[in-house]
Amino acid sequence: MKKAVFPGSFDPITLGHVDIINRALPLFDEITIAIGTNAAKKYMFSLEERISFIKETFQNQPKISVTSYQGLTINYCKENNIDFILRGLRNPADFEFEKAIAQTNRKLAGIETVFLLTGADTSFISSSIVRDILRHNGDVSSLVPPAVVKK
Ligand code: ADP
Repeated sequence: MKKAVFPGSFDPITLGHVDIINRALPLFDEITIAIGTNAAKKYMFSLEERISFIKETFQNQPKISVTSYQGLTINYCKENNIDFILRGLRNPADFEFEKAIAQTNRKLAGIETVFLLTGADTSFISSSIVRDILRHNGDVSSLVPPAVVKK
């Protein structure tokens, strides 16, 4: 049974995240989308809202579950018998940042990180840009799944 966790803030989930998750579906038996919570960080959407956006988006996909966690992702993996961390890569900056974290996670816990490249049509999308647009009442319907647009 190949189990992966896709950790992130998902504040909010975007079509970039959806693209990565859909690409990962054939690779794993189960994918847990895990929202890491950090008390020091300010989020635009509450944890409940972020979870409900993801649940609604993948309501017909039995391989996907959604949860939240605190602390190190590798500890979450060990506690839940998960062998793979899934991350998306958009650009060289993502690669540089992710490389050190993935190598550290492998060193500390023997956990492999699987990277998938975004599709060209979603590689420019980021949650932070979506939040900026929302703050100024812009239209994000081409950047996020319908569950977020409805809100
Ligand atoms: P974090 O705070 O952990 O970066 P995010 O929710 O921003 O949380 O991102 C979670 C994961 O989704 C990361 O691996 C990130 O690289 C990936 N990701 C975010 N946006 C995109 C996108 N447009 N295309 C591909 N991957 C993306």
